[in-house]
Order: sequence, then structure tokens, then C-alpha cells
Amino acid sequence: MIDTHAHLSSRFSEEIKIEGLTYVVLAASCLQDSEDNLKLSEINKKLMPAIGIHPQEINDDFATLEKLFDDRVVAIGECGLEFTDEVNETDKKKQIELFRKQIVMSQNVNRPLIVHSRQASDETLEILGEYKNLRGVIHCYSGGKKRIKKYFELPGEWYFGIDGNLTYEIGLEEVVKNIPKDRLILETDSPYLTPVPFRGEKNCPEYVKYVYQKVSEIWQMSIETTEKIIDDNAKRLFKLV
Ligand SMILES: [Zn+2]
Repeated sequence: MIDTHAHLSSRFSEEIKIEGLTYVVLAASCLQDSEDNLKLSEINKKLMPAIGIHPQEINDDFATLEKLFDDRVVAIGECGLEFTDEVNETDKKKQIELFRKQIVMSQNVNRPLIVHSRQASDETLEILGEYKNLRGVIHCYSGGKKRIKKYFELPGEWYFGIDGNLTYEIGLEEVVKNIPKDRLILETDSPYLTPVPFRGEKNCPEYVKYVYQKVSEIWQMSIETTEKIIDDNAKRLFKLV
């Protein structure tokens, strides 16, 4: 099993629980996380670092991010758009600019993107549609059933990341049924989005197994077959061997 999205940097300074997992992809929200992820990857070879700047961290310096890149990095992100009601027009423009820079970076360094898109599905689709040869994941996919096809039709190769809320949000089950099996990967978004039966507590990468279990029920397949399909997807996207 692979948790393709966890936050384990010093800001969260937790005990790292990764028993039973083949890999954990470490998502980064800011420069500090990016640096921490690189350090963590040296401590445990199952921890695969991403570097990136989240749309809530638009004041972090992109040039510094670019300098952090090296061979250890498996992905760029999480980056993207978060257009909640409190975000003003100036900050929306800054988010778009920072997103575009990270898209171009992912092309230049040949790494997939981890895309965060909240209340900005149409804008995200429009921007991603302007670039060729992109690969990546729409992390914690929340674009609904209808947009799956639109993301799928984007140039490049796109995957959908589904999290622990699948265990308690009925609507997400329909979404999972509509995602092509070879484009689904699973995440915890630790320390957030803790699945049932630990909902309300802090999340950890090991709990990704509850998301795998839920998918195996939805697919009506054995846990072994489900695991094989999903892990192959994650390995293909992040080039994990
Ligand atoms: Zn995240």
C-alpha cells in the first residue's frame, strides 16, 4: 500500500507511522515543508519527497523553491488554486501566477504535479488545459462526477487522489465508481481527513488501509487485487520502483 499524500514535516512533528506501507509521498505546502521533506527522505527510504508551495502560501519565494530541486524529488506540489470566499482578486492573481510557475517547473524537471484545487475546479481545468505533456494528480479530488471526464480529457496523464473522507461521504462513492480504475490513487492527507474508524483523531499514513478497504468494497474486488491496481497506478505516476 502507498499513501500518496501525507504531511509529515516538522510543522506537524509527529511520530511517523508507516508500518505496512511500501511508500509514502510527502506533500509540501511551503518552503519549510519542502526542505523538511528532503531531510525526512534521508531518514527513511520509504518517504518520497515532493517540494512545492500551496495556494495559501503565496508569499513564499518561487526562486528558492526551484533551487531546492534535486534527484530525490518525486513530484512538484501541492500547488494550485484555492478560491474560497475570503480570497481577494489580487491574491487570486498571485495564486494563478505561482501555480503557472510550478506547472512550468514540473515540465522542466520532468516530475508530476500534485494539484490542490478548492472551489476552483473550472479555473484549474482551464489553466492545466493550456499546457502539454503534463502528468499529475488532482489531490483530494472534489470536482464531482461531472468533471472527471474533463480532467481525463486534459492533455497528458492525470490521476485522481481520494482520501479518508471516502469512508464517511456517501457522494464520494459515486465519484470513485466513475474514476477509471487505472487512474485512481489513494491518500491520507495526514494529519487531516482521518477515515472511519478513527475519525476525529489525528490521521497517519498507516490509515490509508481503510481507504483501500473502502475502494475494494466499491469495486467489489479482493483487497489484494485492489491494492495491486492502485499501487501500480501510484508507482507509474511517481516513478517509484
Ligand atoms: Zn495536502
